[in-house]
Amino acid sequence: MDRYAVIGHPIGHSKSPLIHTAFAEATGQALVYTAIEAPLDGFAATVDRFRAEGGRGVNVTVPFKLEACAYATDPADRARAAGAANALKFDGDRCLADNFDGVGLVRDIVHNLGHAVRGRRVLLLGAGGATRGALLPLLEQAPAHLFVANRSVDKALALVQEFVGRGAPAHVLEGGGYADLGGDAFDVVVNATSASLGQALPPVPAHALHPDGLAYDMVYGQGLTPFLQLAQTRGVRHLADGVGMLVEQAAEAFAWWRGVRPDTATTIQRLRVPLI
Ligand code: NDP
Repeated sequence: MDRYAVIGHPIGHSKSPLIHTAFAEATGQALVYTAIEAPLDGFAATVDRFRAEGGRGVNVTVPFKLEACAYATDPADRARAAGAANALKFDGDRCLADNFDGVGLVRDIVHNLGHAVRGRRVLLLGAGGATRGALLPLLEQAPAHLFVANRSVDKALALVQEFVGRGAPAHVLEGGGYADLGGDAFDVVVNATSASLGQALPPVPAHALHPDGLAYDMVYGQGLTPFLQLAQTRGVRHLADGVGMLVEQAAEAFAWWRGVRPDTATTIQRLRVPLI
């Protein structure tokens, strides 16, 4: 049977085996998907071993996404732009890489949650790996304005400069600190910081969230995070966590490997933790 795996450190928390096994059952694909914990200094050796044993592809999670992109012989534009990959596909001596995190986010926002990005004002909080992966897919939706706000202001500015240097329109993509946000509210606000993992709130002013808009926290399974609580207090009607993004990026990888796109609604429903 064809073998796939998710590689990370730690990996015990990963939902990927459950998600891909459900996809395989639903689509009638014969495959086995497991979780592998690689030593912090042993990502490439772990992938090499899995390939030698006949592995067909892997998902890659924290902290190996940058190494995964560097490991590949053929990184897709999206992975190259992010400098990070979350999926690898093996083809003889070649190793293809892609990054489906951003496309999973966009699919969840636009398709599952029904919020347009085209022509809207979008705010991304954070300037780490998740934001890097989200920028290109969000820009492809042609927002009116996309602002990247980060605690370490230099990091946001450098990231924006990098993407503008590669062709992103400078009048659309801007960055800075939380103090640079101005007075106008945003239609879609995505918390791509890791603050929620420590029950912390990024210093986003409540007025930046539009009551008719969407507040989206990329973390999942944590219920109502401090960011989502802020949005609720502000009266934002649509709140979401990152479970849909997680399942959608998995579906993209599955389709890339197997040539068949699984339905995601049932799996999202199964993994969803109520936002209370
Ligand atoms: P990184 O470590 O690369 O970046 C973390 C970012 O969070 C930095 O910009 C950092 O700011 C900021 N930050 C951390 N703590 C705070 C705080 N207390 N206040 C303000 N800003 C803070 O993480 P990733 O980008 O890889 O991941 C970000 C989040 O996205 C994680 O929670 C992760 O679980 C989630 N994620 C979800 C996915 C999904 O499928 N749903 C997929 C990928 C990620 P600074 O630069 O100033 O340190």
